[in-house]
Amino acid sequence: MSVFLPELKYGLDKLNPFLSAKAMDFHYNKHFVNYVNAANAIIKGTEYDSQSLRTIVKNSSGALFNNAAQVLNHEIFFNSIAPRETPVPPQVEALICKNFNSVAEFKEQLFRVASSHFGSGWTWLVLDPATRKLDLRNTVNAANPITEGLAVLLGLDLWEHSYYLDYQNRRPDYIKAFLDHIDWTYAERHYLRNTAK
Ligand code: MN
Repeated sequence: MSVFLPELKYGLDKLNPFLSAKAMDFHYNKHFVNYVNAANAIIKGTEYDSQSLRTIVKNSSGALFNNAAQVLNHEIFFNSIAPRETPVPPQVEALICKNFNSVAEFKEQLFRVASSHFGSGWTWLVLDPATRKLDLRNTVNAANPITEGLAVLLGLDLWEHSYYLDYQNRRPDYIKAFLDHIDWTYAERHYLRNTAK
């Protein structure tokens, strides 16, 4: 079994009022668990069974891709947020300032990009490991930029199930609240992992 449900680093009730305990319970214990179970049911007894989640996402299509990518996407999302926004590590701040002028401007751009997305999908802070340039990307449904050779430093879930219980149609308010709950240590870890020689 290569696909696991990762433990959260905070309690389900610790993100309130950004995300209520009830919304987190549905999101983590129902939606996320379903993706994990569906991916495992498909890979059972196949060559994928012994592969890492990221390898499966890079090499699969159809229902397996959809479920495996949604596991990875949720793992990234739940690690991109924290009960309180963490301080921005100096190296990440320098990188953000180089690419977006300032952390505040980065947040404004993320808000614009995420707000412009139509339907179910994701907004990502991506790193091109070759050029070390950062960019913001939207993807539809389960798509993840790692299939294009990019590294993901942060991810925001734009599927309705992620915000509807708390925000209903007010997706912009959910996106704004996300910007105040970023775990920058996750971005730093993945920046270092993808630029290590
Ligand atoms: Mn979700």
